[in-house]
Amino acid sequence: MVSRVIPVDPFDLVIFGATGDLARRKILPGLFHRFAVGQMPEHARILGAARSDLDRATFRDLVGESLLEFVPQASGQKGLVNRFLEKLDYVRVDVTGTKGWPELAELMRPDVIRAFYLSVSPTLFGAIADNLNEHGIATPDSRIVVEKPFGHDLASAKALNADLLNGFAEHQIYRIDHYLGKETVQNLMALRFANSLWEPLWNSTHVDHVQITVAESLGVEGRGGYYDRSGAMRDMVQNHLMQLLCLTAMEPPSRLHPNAVRDEKVKVIEALEPVEPADIVRGQYRGKGAADGYRDHAGDPDSRTESFVAMKVNIGNWRWAGTPFYLRTGKKLRARASEIVVMFRDPPHMMFPKTEGLRGNALIIRLQPDEGITLRTTIKEPGPGGLRLAEVTLDMTFADALGPHAEAQDAYERLIMDVIRGDQTLFMRGDEVEAAWAWADPIIANWEDARQHPAPYDAGSSGPEDALMLMHRDGRRWREIEA
Ligand code: NAD
Repeated sequence: MVSRVIPVDPFDLVIFGATGDLARRKILPGLFHRFAVGQMPEHARILGAARSDLDRATFRDLVGESLLEFVPQASGQKGLVNRFLEKLDYVRVDVTGTKGWPELAELMRPDVIRAFYLSVSPTLFGAIADNLNEHGIATPDSRIVVEKPFGHDLASAKALNADLLNGFAEHQIYRIDHYLGKETVQNLMALRFANSLWEPLWNSTHVDHVQITVAESLGVEGRGGYYDRSGAMRDMVQNHLMQLLCLTAMEPPSRLHPNAVRDEKVKVIEALEPVEPADIVRGQYRGKGAADGYRDHAGDPDSRTESFVAMKVNIGNWRWAGTPFYLRTGKKLRARASEIVVMFRDPPHMMFPKTEGLRGNALIIRLQPDEGITLRTTIKEPGPGGLRLAEVTLDMTFADALGPHAEAQDAYERLIMDVIRGDQTLFMRGDEVEAAWAWADPIIANWEDARQHPAPYDAGSSGPEDALMLMHRDGRRWREIEA
């Protein structure tokens, strides 16, 4: 399948924090890809802004090195890399001070789209938003992009929203959750709302339960100190898993308009019932060797932060009452695998003899690795000798079905181009983030009040035993975590 590349309008994209890890690993390589496929207009420019004392040439060299490091094919594309680097400029700005802003203002061109990517600590969002306005750099049409984490509780998320809204309107603010840029996540919307097949089944009459798993095989090595102040609930559930839950559970929006989609997502979050403590399992991994456990990496021998969480969530609305959603995420698990499993109910009457091991119909939407969709169905076991049943899967791995392009576009590339196009559909709205924190806050406060210790689990396992029990006691089981 040949992919269509729709060029975007000319733009000046300013990356605050352009010398940082995220810019070097994701944002600039993503922009290079878009340039390489011809989506970037001739008059597009990327302006790096950071604290380091660099000139334009040194910044270009730095980005050139990053591309060689993080874009496998770049070493064979020297000419292309050089043409891309010509689009780059650099301004030294300490965003909390006054220096650098007039130079940045001077560099900005009239009549092109202005976008400001804040790849810096959220503590700097307010200062940047203020300075962009004070120095006349922000225009009524310019866009501001912010990274996660968007707050660590409801109060801090509200404060960040206030910082940004003091100078930018909601339609200018793009809060990134890179999960939403994943091809399969967007496909979830296409699958649900561009096919007539699923919608009649997509409710508690036909769906027994839904499982959402985001499993990581890596631990918190190298960022243990940061992670220890956050934990799986704040780092993954409140944002990524919540977004996946919303897209799975939401009502069909009337049109593909950013606010129509986001209105439906907010309704799902608002319909979430409080989660009972007995329906949550927290875990913390033990190392395989000495000094390789979570607490070693976190640098706190008494840490009570969870590196794993599993929970049963009920959505109190007409469509989903009686169909629980089980969420699970953790670090140092047996494989890196993210997926949504929609488990359908058993047929109301089974005329065939009982066959051990049959698990029933499931639609498995795989986010990583190997993005794709699988439908598990029951068939007759081939061969003579009576009618026995067996399971077979109808598989669609995107890379096989759609060709190499299916894998080529990283979530960041897609999202940055959406910013330039002015399409907020795949970005979180302020009220959406606040609603998700309003749901998560009491759960976290409960743990803190109880000074609860997470259950230990072995690195390389599927998480604590209690997480398996969370399902078993309801007569259900998790799908195995497998790469
Ligand atoms: P980093 O520490 O590697 O880079 C920070 C950048 O900000 C540097 O370019 C630095 O020069 C600049 N900076 C810091 N203080 C400044 C100031 N006062 N004025 C001007 N520039 C200043 O951080 P990072 O890992 O690139 O992360 C950036 C943001 O993205 C953070 O909010 C982080 O939470 C978020 N994020 C990062 C990742 C990741 O994979 N690195 C993933 C998701 C979200």
